[in-house]
Amino acid sequence: MTPGNNDPSTEFHDLIIIGAGPAGLAAGIYAARDQQDVVLVEKLSPGGQVLNTDWVENYPGFPDGISGFELMDAMRRQADRFGLQILSREVQGVDFSGEVKALTLPDGKMTARSVIIATGAQPRKVGIEGEELLTGKGVSYCGTCDGPFYRDAEVGVIGGGDTAIEEALFLTRFASRVHVVHRRDQLRATKILQDRAFANEKIAFVWDTVPTRIIGEATVEELALQNVKTGLESAIKVEGVFVFVGTRPITEFLAGSVDLDDQKFIKVDRRQQTSVPGVFAAGDVTSETARQIAVAVGEGVTAVLSAEDYLSESIPG
Ligand code: NAP
Repeated sequence: MTPGNNDPSTEFHDLIIIGAGPAGLAAGIYAARDQQDVVLVEKLSPGGQVLNTDWVENYPGFPDGISGFELMDAMRRQADRFGLQILSREVQGVDFSGEVKALTLPDGKMTARSVIIATGAQPRKVGIEGEELLTGKGVSYCGTCDGPFYRDAEVGVIGGGDTAIEEALFLTRFASRVHVVHRRDQLRATKILQDRAFANEKIAFVWDTVPTRIIGEATVEELALQNVKTGLESAIKVEGVFVFVGTRPITEFLAGSVDLDDQKFIKVDRRQQTSVPGVFAAGDVTSETARQIAVAVGEGVTAVLSAEDYLSESIPG
């Protein structure tokens, strides 16, 4: 099959993988190398959220680090080498009620004996006035993508986790000042990132504070804040606001077909098995995962080995 231009409506496979981030590509590399009848379906280009990461320095095997783009490009090329078929389509719905699993695509259906869901997660919105209106006009969820627009400008970063601090550090390459607004007086980010941020003179911390409104006509002009301890309101003049308050899983298309946790992440067991036999899930879309590239890769591999066991034990219908 040629990637991206086939009519999928008549296709039936042993295994379909949904999503081409680290979990999906790792599963795809193993399945294609094992010469399984497998197709990977991805709505965007392969790579996932890692493509938005400037520099990855905790993925084993790269002592000097590697750019997010290069790492994912290498995984994609490795998948290509084993002939993994990647179909560019968005999966809009699923039917896991029978032995044969069906996926609804914009131009038809695909069916398979087993499925691995590796659709990952996307940035959460902070949900304040002005956020929606000014997205793309100063409000961003990706420092690596939009940082260069803020040369010598002041920007705000909302959040205190690994993503917020990594991205704040990246933004100091361009911005004159990066105001990190965090709702507590301690960061959630790992110590190595904290130490780097505290040592960076361009980063200013606004502790115990939540954003209340993003103000601007055509573009962002100000970020309104409130101290959660004193109730005092203030505002900082910024040209950009970068929101990093965690992620939400991409599971809407599943519409209740597998069990989810209260945050809508997919529940899996240690074999990456979901509540439906033959349907597995791996990576950031799953509940209680560590949300690391290396973990996603490991879960993708576990999922495909479990799927292969399932396929060898179940009789084709
Ligand atoms: P996260 O760890 O969930 O952190 C989200 C941050 O946003 C927290 O500091 C949280 O505050 C804050 N927050 C949440 N809701 C908020 C709200 N409504 N208003 C204001 N602040 C709010 O998310 P993340 O940083 O995106 O990381 C996600 C996962 O990926 C984590 O497991 C992380 O370790 C991992 N990750 C790892 C790396 C790496 O290894 N290099 C890089 C990036 C991400 P509280 O702290 O008060 O809860």
